[in-house]
Formats: sequence, C-alpha cells, structure tokens
Amino acid sequence: MLDDTVDRVAVLGAGNMGHGIAEVTAMAGYDVVLRDIEPEYVEDGYESIRWSLEKLAERERLEESADAILERIETTTDLENAVADADLVIEAAPENLELKRELFANLERFADEDALLATNTSSLPITDVAAAVDTPERVLGLHFFNPPVKMDLVEVIYGAETSDAAAEAGHDWVESIGKTPIYVRKDVRGFVVNTIVGPFIGEPAWMVSEGDAEVRQADAAMVHERGYPMGPFELADLTGIDVSYHVRKEAGEDVPPAIAEKVEAEELGKKTGKGFYDYESSDGPDYEPGQGEGFDTLQVEARMVNRAAYLVGEDVATSEAIDTGVRLGLGFPEGICRRGDGIGLDTVLEKLETRFEETGDDRFEPHPYLRELVAAGKTGEDAGAGFHEYGDGGAGDLDSYRYLNAEVEDGVLEVELDRPERMNALSADLLEEIDDLFSTVDTDGLRCATIEGTGDRAFSAGADISGFDSLEPTDAMDITPAFETVNEFPRPVLATVDGYCLGAGLELALACDLRIATKRSSFGAPEIGLGLIPGGGGTQRLLRVLGETRAKELVFRGNHVDAERAERWGLVNRAVDREAFEETVATFVDDLREGPPLGLEVAKKVMNRGEDASLEAALAMESQGFGLLIGTDDVREGTAAFAEDREPEFEGR
Ligand code: NAD
Repeated sequence: MLDDTVDRVAVLGAGNMGHGIAEVTAMAGYDVVLRDIEPEYVEDGYESIRWSLEKLAERERLEESADAILERIETTTDLENAVADADLVIEAAPENLELKRELFANLERFADEDALLATNTSSLPITDVAAAVDTPERVLGLHFFNPPVKMDLVEVIYGAETSDAAAEAGHDWVESIGKTPIYVRKDVRGFVVNTIVGPFIGEPAWMVSEGDAEVRQADAAMVHERGYPMGPFELADLTGIDVSYHVRKEAGEDVPPAIAEKVEAEELGKKTGKGFYDYESSDGPDYEPGQGEGFDTLQVEARMVNRAAYLVGEDVATSEAIDTGVRLGLGFPEGICRRGDGIGLDTVLEKLETRFEETGDDRFEPHPYLRELVAAGKTGEDAGAGFHEYGDGGAGDLDSYRYLNAEVEDGVLEVELDRPERMNALSADLLEEIDDLFSTVDTDGLRCATIEGTGDRAFSAGADISGFDSLEPTDAMDITPAFETVNEFPRPVLATVDGYCLGAGLELALACDLRIATKRSSFGAPEIGLGLIPGGGGTQRLLRVLGETRAKELVFRGNHVDAERAERWGLVNRAVDREAFEETVATFVDDLREGPPLGLEVAKKVMNRGEDASLEAALAMESQGFGLLIGTDDVREGTAAFAEDREPEFEGR
C-alpha cells in the first residue's frame, strides 16, 4: 500500500530539471532532499534554486521568504541518506536507460517500501526503467516541463505495471504543488505532448524537404495565420535540431532531409548560433506576417489531429487531457482536439486520405478512431460533437465557449478567463466570447457575476498583441464592445484578481463594478510602452475611478502599481492576503446574491449613467429610479423584514 500523504520528497539529479523540481516542491511546503553525484553539482543546483527564488521574491511571487523555502531543502551526495525517509522519489538524472536502471535498483534498496518512485524521463519507456526494481507497480513517470518553476504541466505516466494507486498518488501530489497533472495511461513514446509536437515540426520539415514550402513561409503561416506561439522551425532551433533528429531516429521514423542536413552541417539551432535561422550575424527568426501565404497549414494540423485520434483511440489519454497538455506544455492557442473539431474532422480526414493516396506515406494514414468519429457523424463543433461534446451553441449555452469557463452556481454567474498558457491575455476571440456571454446569458435567477483568471499567475496580463502588427489602423479603432457589455450588464460584476492585471486585463477589471485582489497582484496600463494608449475604455475609466492625477500616472508612465497601492488609490475595493482571498470574495458575493436584484440593477444603472451627466440630470435619474422601485415587492419585503427584525428574502419583483 502506498502512503497517500507525502511529506518528504527526494530529487535525484540537481541539473536543469532536478533543481527546478526541488524548487517547486519546496515552494509548495514539502521538505526536499536534493541529491547529485558530486558536491559541486548539488551546490550548483542549490545556488540555482536560490537565484530563482530571489528573483521570484523580487517580483512578489512568493508567499514567504526565499530563505524560509531554502530551509526546507537539504543537499547530499549520499543516495541512502537522500531516499531513506522520502515518501516520494523523483529521479532527474541524465537521459540514459542503463544509468537510470542502476539508480532505481539501488534506490529500491534504501527507500521505504511504501515510497512512490518516479522518473522525469522525457523519452525512455517508464516500463523499462521500472523493470530494474522488484516493485514496478509503484514506479511511474512524472514528466515536468522545462523550466518547472514556470511550466504548469506535469504528465503522469503509467508504465506497464504501474498501479492505479501509484498513479493517483502521483496525480494528487502534482495537484498539491499547484501544477496541472494529466494522465498518460499507456507508456507510449513521446507520451502526450511530444506525440503531438512531432508533426508540428516534422510535417513542415517534410514540406520544405520536398520543395512544397519555405522555412519562413511555414513559420509565418503557423504563427500569424494559425496563432501558434512559435513557428515550427523557430521551435526546432530553440530545442535543438539534433533533438528533433534523434527523437525520430529512436522512434524508427524517417528523418526529413531538411533536418538531417542541418545536423550534418552541425547547424543545430540557437545553441550553435545557426540553424534554420542565423543567430550570429542577425537576430534569429525574421519571418514576416505576410510571408505565410500559400502554406498548407491544414496538412500540418491534420497530422497533429490524427496523432490526437491515436492517443484517444488507443486509450492513452482523453481529449481533455491532450488539450490541456498542448496548451500548457506547448502554449498552443487552443487544444488540438478542439482545433480539429473547429476545422471539422471530416475535412481533416479527407486531407489525410488524399495525401495518403497521393504519397502512400504512412504518416498520412488516418487512425481508425478518426474514421470512427467521422462515420458516427461526430465531425466536430458544427455537428455538436467530435472529440468533445458541444452544446447547441445557442444563446445561454454556457458550454459553447472555447476560452471562457462559465457556469451558474446558486444565482452567481462564475466566469473564468481560460487561457492560462498566455496568462489569460485577451485575444479578439476571447473578447468576442465575453461579449457574447454577457449579452446572451439568461439573467432571470442571476444575482451577480464574478470574473477571474485561470492558472496561478494572472487575472489577465493584457491584450494578445500577436497579430497587432498586421492590423490596419482602422481595424484597431474598431474597439470591442466586450467591456461595455460587462459594464452595462444588469447585475453587479465582481472582478477577483490574483496576479497580473495589466493593459486590457485592467480595462476588463475596470469595466466590472467591484474588484478584490490578492496582495501579490499588480496593476498597470503598459500600452504607452508600445506607443499605444489603452483602447478598451482604460483612459476614461481610470480617470473616473482614480481621478486625473493617478490616472495619468498609470497611463503616462506605464508601470505597475502593487495591490496595496491600488487599494489606497481606490482602484480595488480590497487587497487581501491570499489566505483571506476566498473568504473576502465569498462575503462580497453573499451580499450581492442576497441583495435586492431590482434595487441593485437600478443602482448600477443610475450610478453608471449619472457619472457622465450633469448633477441635475443625474439627480433626476436617481429620483426616477427611486420612484420605479417604490412600488415593487422587493421594497415591501425589505421594509417588512426591517420592521420584523429578520433577513429579507428578495425575489426581484
Ligand atoms: P542535466 O544533465 O541538466 O542534469 C542531470 C543531473 O543528474 C546532473 O547534474 C548529473 O550530475 C546528475 N546525475 C548523474 N547521475 C546521477 C545519479 N546517479 N544520481 C543523481 N544524480 C545524478 O539533465 P536534465 O536536463 O535536468 O534532465 C534530467 C532528466 O529530465 C532527463 O531524464 C531528461 O530527459 C528529463 N527532462 C529534461 C527536460 C529538459 O528540457 N531539460 C525536460 C523534461 C524532462
């Protein structure tokens, strides 16, 4: 039986990954032992942790001092000492099967028999590592992404013998350190994320090799037309072209000549100063928005979607897990299953079939699960189902949003901005969804709304400016109605801010009626640094909320103010410690939920409108509102409850 309470964690290997894993583990409150083979290596790892924690402390991202966290980390070169009292061991030694097997065989001798044993390998089968011990059922993969302190995703991988109890304990532990786990239920090469990224780089490399595309054309199209955070060749340069080469070789795949040639020429990417781009005599990737024209993005995306079909069809991962994986692990703008559903799985299948017929190349062979979905009419979003289920998409269908999570709970519309991989940056699509949600949601029975950001870094760090450079000035003037829609929503809207609240994110928070923030949050209007001004109502709402002196400071200087200053300035209603955040929000929400819906609606309207009217006109609006409320049941209930010394129960009539 495994211990489901992990207190102490041993991390083996203090290199790139090991030190980062130790850091995030200690940050979450666990005691950590960090082990490497030479004192200087452990020392280097420890110093890297110190450096990183100090940076985080400077940016107010820590809830305690860097020293307090460092105190939880012990270092050693002695394996027995490292693992003897550990409940969880995470191995992050070099990527070499023999070395890992030897290490596991040894650690099994010293570790408690209940301890969970995990490997951070990127590419070795968990099963092969686990075969080195007598108790493979407690061995699993915990695949962190580089750097662990920034990357939220951890793949939790089953080896052939891994027990559900071990995988679940690993999954729970990952959640306990504030990371997002996804299950990889079978020990397949590349697990989930690298399975999908394969064709992202591989397919454009084939297309270039076969003379069907140019490097810059592919990168420009994938970034500027399809919204990926980086072009495939740009990514290959960053991760190392030799890595792309070896991964394919080890998988027994053919290597696209465009990749093999670079490896032969020892132009391996950024690390050698030259790859697909030149980092020595110029600044690396230099593709331009318009250069993508004519590139067949569907051919690349169809192959990624086909890989997703393989993962789901073979029960390796669910479509939700895959989508979470590629968003958090690769920064994809949306899940690849979602994207397939958006393109239409019939279109994807047709592309693959056509290319398969034309070339006979296995890489285009459609997976049976993809055929199955299409045959069942589950062709994606338009059909109401594909990899995912979709609502009817009609007004009030809260499940139909891609970048928003919305639900109504006990009279409260709870909205989450769901682009954690981009710190919830407001893209045109996300703004459109906010506008749609707040203009179509059924307000009967709704008492208030809350807006928060997902992930642990930001409410929203700004506008998604990728694509700004391709906008015509007139497009940019066509300002989204989303902020107005939120501002005019007939129920009170509360922004709950934990982390960055910048630029368009700040404008969204300003469009809300009330704002509560954690003390670590920061606020700012950095647009001026881009040569711009806030374009979503920021200049005007800041003036009204803060007054001219402070508003101009924010807009002109473009720098951040912390939450405590924001509270003093009246930019937020409360700035509280993280521990008190939920409770403070709940208290506000309770008051709004239990308040008189009509009274609140009228109050919001006359206060919003009155702000811009003359005092005389505003007072007239107020007395009109007052008169409207006088005859309502809610006022009768309110006055009766007052007389009877009980809590009123408002019905909104
Ligand atoms: P690294 O070379 O930076 O660090 C490995 C460390 O392990 C070195 O300090 C080495 O001295 C130490 N070591 C060697 N033998 C050891 C032993 N017997 N016991 C304890 N420590 C030992 O490598 P890395 O990039 O941190 O990768 C470590 C593992 O994480 C690999 O399996 C790799 O595939 C995986 N991984 C790497 C990345 C990445 O981007 N670097 C991402 C995810 C997973």
